[in-house]
Amino acid sequence: MAVTALLVDGLTVRFGSFRAIDALSLAIDYGEVRAVIGPNGAGKTTLLDVISGITRPKEGRVLFDGAFDLTQASDSAIARAGIRRKFQKPSVFEGLSVRQHIAIGADAGFRRALDAPALEDRVSEVLETVGLAGHATHLAGELSHGQKQWLEIGMVLASDPKVLMLDEPVAGLTDEETERTAQLVRRLNRPDRAIIVVEHDMDFVERIADRVTVLHEGRTLFEGPMDKVRADAGVIEVYLGR
Ligand code: ADP
Repeated sequence: MAVTALLVDGLTVRFGSFRAIDALSLAIDYGEVRAVIGPNGAGKTTLLDVISGITRPKEGRVLFDGAFDLTQASDSAIARAGIRRKFQKPSVFEGLSVRQHIAIGADAGFRRALDAPALEDRVSEVLETVGLAGHATHLAGELSHGQKQWLEIGMVLASDPKVLMLDEPVAGLTDEETERTAQLVRRLNRPDRAIIVVEHDMDFVERIADRVTVLHEGRTLFEGPMDKVRADAGVIEVYLGR
């Protein structure tokens, strides 16, 4: 039976009198890749901000593992619990090597303290997973846009996250890079991990997502597999038909 990783329960986020998230409830299970889609202003980023502890809601809660209320926790406590996010824009350190980046991600975020050989092993494993083993000694500044995205995914992956949030991971990528990213996301899917992806590229979403949540005006407009999402008249009206 599916185990819930994140339970969003009656969540409302207001900016002034405007409700960016409006009494939203949803559950994201371990073992699934969940895409969150919807038109600009739907509340996708605000939802990720609440889950990461950057934005505090006025009402409602987000329970992690059934017990830990993220709306009452600091962003650092949330990260320590294994909830990690790759932000939309790559922000790598141009003068540090690819390997150094992954080591920072592993050292800063791993839920168990690693000794030096274990850290080295972890870094090598992550480099292999994200397809950057051949670039380990390169400076991040020398990487392509796609490689920088994979590097940032590697940095969050290095901490062995239980919940992994990817914010527009294929924005600005070539078709080939997008395809490689889709393969990578599917490789990161594990029974003890939940992956949440915010993305506008619907072909990519179809490749990676087990289920899709369509947000509109801070509420769930539709939830289901991508083929059902594509066929839904309401979704076509507010988003896909545009
Ligand atoms: P999405 O990521 O789906 O495009 P957002 O979550 O970024 O949507 O934004 C939802 C709505 O909340 C938008 O109308 C946006 O303008 C508004 N909003 C987001 N952050 C703020 C803020 N800090 N102050 C005021 N309004 C905001």
